[in-house]
Amino acid sequence: MNVETPTAPKFYNTLGRSLESFTPLSAGKVGIYTCGPTVYGDPHIGNLRAFVFEDVLVRAMRYLGYAVTQVMNITDVDDKTIREAKAAGLGLDEYTQPYIDSFLADLDTLHVARADEYPRATRHIAEMIAMIEQLIERGHAYLVDDGSVYFRIASDEDYGRLSGFQLDEAQQGERVASDEYEKEDVRDFVLWKAAKPGEPTWDSPWGAGRPGWHIECSAMSMKYLGESFDIHCGGVDNIFPHHENEIAQSESATGKPFAHTWLHAEHLIVDGEKMSKSLGNQYTLSELIEQGISPRILRYFYLSVNYRQKLNYTAYAVESAAGALRRVDQMRFRLDHTQEEGAPSPKLAAAAKQLRAEFRAGLADDLNLSECLAALFGFVKVVNVEIEHLRLGEGDLWKVRQVLSEVDTVFGVLDPEAWEQETEPSSIADDEVEELISQRREARSNRDFAEADRLRGVLEGHGIVLEDTAQATRWKRG
Ligand code: AMP
Ligand code: ZN
Repeated sequence: MNVETPTAPKFYNTLGRSLESFTPLSAGKVGIYTCGPTVYGDPHIGNLRAFVFEDVLVRAMRYLGYAVTQVMNITDVDDKTIREAKAAGLGLDEYTQPYIDSFLADLDTLHVARADEYPRATRHIAEMIAMIEQLIERGHAYLVDDGSVYFRIASDEDYGRLSGFQLDEAQQGERVASDEYEKEDVRDFVLWKAAKPGEPTWDSPWGAGRPGWHIECSAMSMKYLGESFDIHCGGVDNIFPHHENEIAQSESATGKPFAHTWLHAEHLIVDGEKMSKSLGNQYTLSELIEQGISPRILRYFYLSVNYRQKLNYTAYAVESAAGALRRVDQMRFRLDHTQEEGAPSPKLAAAAKQLRAEFRAGLADDLNLSECLAALFGFVKVVNVEIEHLRLGEGDLWKVRQVLSEVDTVFGVLDPEAWEQETEPSSIADDEVEELISQRREARSNRDFAEADRLRGVLEGHGIVLEDTAQATRWKRG
């Protein structure tokens, strides 16, 4: 439930490396820019971690009472997209469009709320050219003989303020070999790349060419959010050089502060190792779904670890995520079979109040979802006890559902019905369900818990939710 005056969160700002109380540039409003995908392949589950983090950030800011505008760019021109399009014998747009579509489809599958804008780099070349012209005019950029333009790092005395990069770490003034030999300084980065044979190009005051990667984000973020805006985010690998360069070129062009707060999500790793093609542990969402992992469980798994910690993808972590969701589902299931009787439960009212307070405090504490989830499970426990003791009174069922739906505006994962319609309809017949349940009962009475768990897994695979009571096992199609 939103309050009239937003609750100001604290964020760990990479710029300054400290926990800061957040103050929006314009009261009650927040502009958020997030570096989007480079569309030369399907996103992997690491990329998706960054995008789910950003989704939760946006939802959390809305929950805390802010009006949010979120912009996420699509990098549809860079070295990789050009290389792959060429290898496939396709034009750039023709090559990238299916990956833009699959990226958006993945976001939908994970219930990521759509951003307000998804600007594509190739549709904003004019804005990039204008910014480069501004930089040349102000002495922050220079044209070299082949028609490329570079940013002059020596002209920005604050360079390195985000990443801590020391200017003298690279040899200042050293000339580079290769095709960039005309740079004044080895550290300078390209803003505009002169045309190369066979590459897509655009006309510019410096001849045909294409933009460098960093300028894309500066031009698109400022177009949609203004020269100064509130929050810029991405994964930790974006800090240097991408975000450092975005700050350098944006602030040098406008003379104004660029983004105020910088938030960076740590990486997802797999079984403790970096995700990489050579290790064969780089998965896409479709691959996980093929392995039988539901997107709902994956979303919960993403939420289970705070964004500034590495997230380790293991079979155990996925099973824990599934187990946690099961606890919430079972509580809801019990709720559906409970009668309200008599006066409302004071314990329940107190628990709902506590959940609201702790959930809000957790979000405001640098998006501490572990705190928020702990508050949720504290609440689930109280509800279970009240159901067991038949203490739910008039209006209590509504109260429970209401507070769950409030916190779920941020989690986006608690309501099984919201995910149901997208999963395959269950093909298992009622008598087969009954048969598997009776086999499971048998296994449990023989204390063969591994078999009992396996049978539960089979049933869950068919979307069947089980609820064990002292007398029997109830079930429903989830
Ligand atoms: P890219 O498509 O490579 O530009 O990356 C899109 C987003 O995914 C960026 O914000 C990256 O920082 C982020 N990212 C890349 N690899 C990982 C990973 N292993 N874990 C989490 N985020 C990642
Ligand atoms: Zn970017």
